Amino acid sequence: MILQLEPNLTEAQRKAILEQISAVKYKTTPVKTQYGDYLIGIGKGDFDIRRLGHLPGIKDIHVVSDTYMLVSRKWKVAPTVIDLGDGVTVGEGSLAIMSGPCSIETEAQIEGMVAHLKENHVRIMRGGVFKPRSSPYAFRGLGIEGLKLFHRICRQNGIKIITEVMQVSQVDEMLPYVDVFQVGARNTQNFNLLDALGKVDKPVLIKRGLSGTIDELLQSAEYVFSGGNERIMLCERGIRTYETASRNTLDLNAVPILKEKSHLPVVVDPSHGIGIRDFIEPMALAAVMAGADGVIYEAHATPEEAASDGAQTLNFPESAELIRKLRLAYQLRKGW
Ligand code: PEP
Ligand code: MN
Repeated sequence: MILQLEPNLTEAQRKAILEQISAVKYKTTPVKTQYGDYLIGIGKGDFDIRRLGHLPGIKDIHVVSDTYMLVSRKWKVAPTVIDLGDGVTVGEGSLAIMSGPCSIETEAQIEGMVAHLKENHVRIMRGGVFKPRSSPYAFRGLGIEGLKLFHRICRQNGIKIITEVMQVSQVDEMLPYVDVFQVGARNTQNFNLLDALGKVDKPVLIKRGLSGTIDELLQSAEYVFSGGNERIMLCERGIRTYETASRNTLDLNAVPILKEKSHLPVVVDPSHGIGIRDFIEPMALAAVMAGADGVIYEAHATPEEAASDGAQTLNFPESAELIRKLRLAYQLRKGW
């Protein structure tokens, strides 16, 4: 059960509401976000909401009893649109395109990528500075200094930044330099990190875990929302299956399912999803047709020289072609 509270609720009103809920042995968790004040009620048996409906201080009551509630469409039917400022949004009404290298490498690389994005009217650049790598000897990113450089160049050019945060201790130092925190597939269930991202007022994109279910992804999003941050995007990036012909299996089933279950925007990452450069385009276009609100993919001036994930990275002509087709696909979807 979700109780939406009035913004000017008094302590006496809160106490009266809590007393009614505990009288039927429901446990409550208070949730305060940048946009609202809620009480989450969990308990066994039916709760007659008429017991509460008349109490002052309650704006609305919603009966939701899934393992995730605040991210559910059962109480918030209208899709959430996330505003990144300066006219950049992610969610219903537009197709968000996020493009950039797997890893931030050099100043020249950032400048080249930014020029490519501007030429193609793309407003969000991806790029990792803290890289989760299977081998400890692989390139692990430029760290916070790389992020500062990334930020300086993007700010000068009106480009927003999405970059991965790997651990709680990085959240505060990264905060001034990011527009969207990315939670990587290896951290989808790092609950301490999700709690920490609940405390910041910056959007968070949560990738689906390598072997995570759709419900687990939604529960991870619930951590961030219940921690206090409503600005969340869900990302399908492929899962581990028995298939070895592709890096992962991009589960496009997840797109309409997530859209139906949740009001949060859904973004698809075809680069990690299939892992093969030549097939990024068809999978990205399929994602748009499946109903995705955005696509995030890897691009680099010279993918063969990229510090990481070159084999799934588009060069600039391929990227420009993909952007053109993504927009056409989105127009087609919008039109029917
Ligand atoms: C990435 O975006 O480069 C990345 C490491 O993604 P994932 O967490 O999906 O593997
Ligand atoms: Mn990558």
